[in-house]
Amino acid sequence: MPSDCIFCKIVNKEIPSAFLFENDALVVFKDINPQAPVHLLIVPRKHIRSINDLKDEDRSIISEMIFSGRNMAKTFKTDTSGYKLFFNVEKGGGQEVFHLHLHLIGGFEK
Ligand code: 5GP
Ligand code: ZN
Repeated sequence: MPSDCIFCKIVNKEIPSAFLFENDALVVFKDINPQAPVHLLIVPRKHIRSINDLKDEDRSIISEMIFSGRNMAKTFKTDTSGYKLFFNVEKGGGQEVFHLHLHLIGGFEK
């Protein structure tokens, strides 16, 4: 892990953060600069730079992330009104934190 990775520090509790959900594979917390009424980040415990850097052995992590996104959308009651789950990939794709994360945004008006 790069020593300056902010999400590694959050995952490892070096920076205090309220986890909305956690399991062996990932943690979920609120985005510090929300772009919608609900804006959560689903972050694997393993440091992976981006989607480009996934290995075959990471398939279960991605699966966990997507199912957790679905579950958190339901928990935050944005499942029926609708939501977005997305990855930004590298600088041109809008990625600013180079530790893989899935955005969940929702809570839009119905
Ligand atoms: P990216 O642009 O890399 O896909 O998304 C990074 C996201 O992480 C941004 O939406 C940004 O607001 C959020 N973020 C950056 N630093 C922190 C932090 O220290 N804590 C939290 N909770 N979110 C952060
Ligand atoms: Zn990291």
